[in-house]
Amino acid sequence: MAFRHPDELPAGDPTVLPRDAVIAIDGPAGSGKSSTARALAERFDLLYIDTGAMYRALTHAALSAGINPGDEAALVALLAPAALELRPARGETTVLWCGNDVSRAIRTPQVEAAVSQVSTHAEVRRLMVERQQALGRRGGVIMEGRDIGSVVFPLATAKIHLSASPEARADRRWRQFRERGVEVDRDGLVRELADRDRQDSERAASPLQISADAFVIDSSDLGFEQQNELCARACLVNPTLDAALDLDIQRARRELPARYRLAYGAMDAMTRFFGMIEYGNGERPIPRGCIASVNHISLWDPAMVAGTFRRGPIHTLAKAELFHPGWLGGNFFRWMDAIPIRRKGYDRNAFREAAARLAEGGNLMIFPEGTRQAIGELGQVRSGLGILVQETRAPVLPIFVRGAYGKRIGGSVESPMEVWRGSLMRWHGLDDLLGQVDRRVASDRIGLLCRAAWCELQARSYQQHPVTEFENELRQNQLHYFAARQTKLFGS
Ligand code: C5P
Repeated sequence: MAFRHPDELPAGDPTVLPRDAVIAIDGPAGSGKSSTARALAERFDLLYIDTGAMYRALTHAALSAGINPGDEAALVALLAPAALELRPARGETTVLWCGNDVSRAIRTPQVEAAVSQVSTHAEVRRLMVERQQALGRRGGVIMEGRDIGSVVFPLATAKIHLSASPEARADRRWRQFRERGVEVDRDGLVRELADRDRQDSERAASPLQISADAFVIDSSDLGFEQQNELCARACLVNPTLDAALDLDIQRARRELPARYRLAYGAMDAMTRFFGMIEYGNGERPIPRGCIASVNHISLWDPAMVAGTFRRGPIHTLAKAELFHPGWLGGNFFRWMDAIPIRRKGYDRNAFREAAARLAEGGNLMIFPEGTRQAIGELGQVRSGLGILVQETRAPVLPIFVRGAYGKRIGGSVESPMEVWRGSLMRWHGLDDLLGQVDRRVASDRIGLLCRAAWCELQARSYQQHPVTEFENELRQNQLHYFAARQTKLFGS
């Protein structure tokens, strides 16, 4: 159910956002994103970034240079070297393209008619997303567009999907044009908005879609103040829920059964001995009942991650073969209450057991790529994660593991051994998404979101410690090895 009134959301407390907050607002044209984003920027003291203005500036430059909006190569050549600057000003953002103020020129009906075609191109989007991430990576921003929550900032503090009926949106756009003294045909505007909606939501490269973890807000019948109030409350829900998580680390440690304490302590000591560094955890609240979704590159991964969960039980979902009784490791998996899963088909028992552990407040660790990848590679997330989320609604904690090859006491600069923890993804918009797509597609979308979060954590890791030559070589070797194994199994 989309939220239609401020009272439907819990009142936010605390009333301030974390200093590094990123607020993502997505939605179709005319849904009121810009005015609300500007109001929220003022209220929470955030930098406002209008990504639509960036695509519009490129469209304006292309039209002025006589470039066809369908010509991707020419658009990329135009954008790559261009200086594109957004300067926050009172009221509207000033947009500078190669030093020229184009703030007004990008709002014409000509630009409006061509911008959606320009923004369908994957390479154009990649370059734009890079610029947008650079603008927002330090936090303290509110960014609006079509793919902010799904692609640009998958780990945003709050995601809002703002929508309104086509009539309400056309009315707003018509009034905006009239205020600027531009006469437009209202019926034509309805048709044009419908056309843009279609292009924006049907394109292959990062289309406009509901993110399952976004607040979906329908503003058709809301006044401006009500809409802002509702969105402001939505911004505060995740920080409020985070603040309510269990902070009592001492108690959590005391309550942890002795065998877990022993095993986690050993894993923690061992991985740190070999130089593992943990990011994004610190003294943050302890999540309970969440699914830690981890990328998989080595057999060390479960130990590295479990060590960081030393404050609460975490149950690994591991392939059934590993539980073989004749093997010491098999006994260890059972001793740690890991859950065996058959990798072929849908293992109902494993999922039922996983859901029960989550309901008890335990955490679950899963490797949803299903198999190990070469170092530096992120595989496709299989449908298991999405199925589990739909059945349990448990929040997902994306975790990125960088490497387990620095096996030298104290670590090796050649192969950083890192565990990066993201923020909890909570499924506020899942019902709205399920109102639009079937359960399989919803699972795929949840998987894509988790993968986008890993990409973001990977980018942060590489920013901190750039990829080393050792890692590059290892990756090449592993890719060869995987390709050879594939050929052996399935033929060339
Ligand atoms: O938000 P605004 O209407 O100014 O956006 C103009 C167009 O830019 C959109 O219709 C869409 O095609 C494109 N856009 C996009 N991704 C974004 C922001 C805008 O594709 N993040």
